Amino acid sequence: MDRPQKLVVIGAGPVGALAALYGAQRGYEVEIYELRPDLRDKKSIPLNFTKSINLALSERGIHALRQAGRPEILEDVMRGAIPMRGRMIHGQTSSGDLFDDAQDYDIFGRTIFAADRNELNSKLLDKLLGLPNVKVFFNHKLTGVDFKACKAWLEVKDQFLANGRHKEIEIDFDFMIGADGAHSATRYHIMKFARVDYQQEFIDTMWCEFRMEAVEKPANDAFESKFRISPYHLHIWPGRDFMFIAIPNEDGSFTCTLFMPQKHFTDLEANPAKLTSFFDTHFPGVRNHIPDEALYRSFKENPHLPLISIKCKPYHFGSSGVILGDAAHAMVPFYGQGMNAGFEDVRILFSILDKHAELDEPNSPTDVVSVSSPAAQRAQALAEYSAVRAPDAHSINDLAINNYIEMRSSVLSRTYRLRKWLEEFMSVHFSSFGWQTKYSRVTFSSERYSQIVAQNNHQSMMLMRCVMGLAASPLVISGLVLAYRCRRALSGGFLGR
Ligand code: FAD
Repeated sequence: MDRPQKLVVIGAGPVGALAALYGAQRGYEVEIYELRPDLRDKKSIPLNFTKSINLALSERGIHALRQAGRPEILEDVMRGAIPMRGRMIHGQTSSGDLFDDAQDYDIFGRTIFAADRNELNSKLLDKLLGLPNVKVFFNHKLTGVDFKACKAWLEVKDQFLANGRHKEIEIDFDFMIGADGAHSATRYHIMKFARVDYQQEFIDTMWCEFRMEAVEKPANDAFESKFRISPYHLHIWPGRDFMFIAIPNEDGSFTCTLFMPQKHFTDLEANPAKLTSFFDTHFPGVRNHIPDEALYRSFKENPHLPLISIKCKPYHFGSSGVILGDAAHAMVPFYGQGMNAGFEDVRILFSILDKHAELDEPNSPTDVVSVSSPAAQRAQALAEYSAVRAPDAHSINDLAINNYIEMRSSVLSRTYRLRKWLEEFMSVHFSSFGWQTKYSRVTFSSERYSQIVAQNNHQSMMLMRCVMGLAASPLVISGLVLAYRCRRALSGGFLGR
């Protein structure tokens, strides 16, 4: 009988953990190597973990969890997740009054979910550690890979040699999945073997996390009473160059993220006393929810981190290695899709691997058709995966970057707002003809990202034609302008998440 294939996964972040689960489900002998200590051990977690503490989980991520082979995985993850039905835009009128404007994400009431990143990751790790064919090694850093010889080298961070250097180990594998994040060592080593086109961009925006604490306030519902602002919305304080967002946590607090260009971080680092007036100017109302002392402390103590966008292709080498998640396509977070797309990578990769394995299965026990080796099947599957996935990963990277550009420059322009309004109008009134906004296609379906972009371009062209046609009719156009003005009076910006 064939020996089980050995799958080595590098990185036990959300994508690596899910990939290991999919692999274990298919009978691989799985080993997962993670640079950091076990994140479930609260004492060993570095205080300022470099990933956002909570994030928006949507249909693609949920679908991949659903397909992980065990229904309890999705149930476990969703137990702690909070449905967010829309954005809540916060602003100030010219007369100085604060206002909120709730904008539902979906006319059919579908929601995205706020999920605690560590909780989600821990639940996946718990499931992995319960499986007989999975071993997890923490504090192991990948330092070298030979994808032809199928050997890899790792530094053991918590074991030292007599000369004070870290102990190093050599492992072998049949198949390596690199899910080791934006600065992936697996990608670096694959690039020595495969002819990988690679492009990376740092955008001129940094991010820093803040926290809005829970509160006890009167409310009909015990759950809602813990929150200072609606738990069912992703809160946004928009600005031309800045943005402050808040995502709810189960304990009643909100994790908030400030996004702004580097130069403003530098100015405020030099003059921290200006922080409160800066918030009053750009994010009016935030100080009603976060005390000044907490604002100063978070700004000082939490890291100010860059945002990177990475595109590459192919993602694999031969039959021995492939990269998934941020390692393959780190993206800016303005569409809330990074982890969702990474989970989707896992689902698509394994569905292609399954397809190639099934194609090769003999039809009957007496069938003498020569069956190719697991490595040969996998080589074909990985080539197909790279070909299928690259256009989609590139599309979502572009959508996320474009959204960032739109948010900075176009969000306040009249043409942009009119176009957006028209798109939403069409999706409300013409949904039965398949008309949907780009946002709802990206967020509430598993349609290919590249098809969404193509479909959206087509819709925009049709819309332009209609608008030009209607321009000939003054009555219709005055009606539309009137409706637009009414709607505008009620709404703020239009932001991706
Ligand atoms: P990572 O989470 O980076 O995990 C990689 C793992 O590999 C880490 O545990 C790391 O320690 C380990 N590792 C690294 N190097 C090595 C090595 N040499 N050897 C061994 N192990 C190694 N996504 C969403 O879907 N929705 C959101 O709302 C959202 N919001 C975000 C907000 C912000 C501010 C940011 C920055 C990102 C956001 N994202 C969001 C993106 C999301 O965080 C990432 O896409 C997701 O974490 C990627 O998961 P991953 O497992 O591929 O990589």
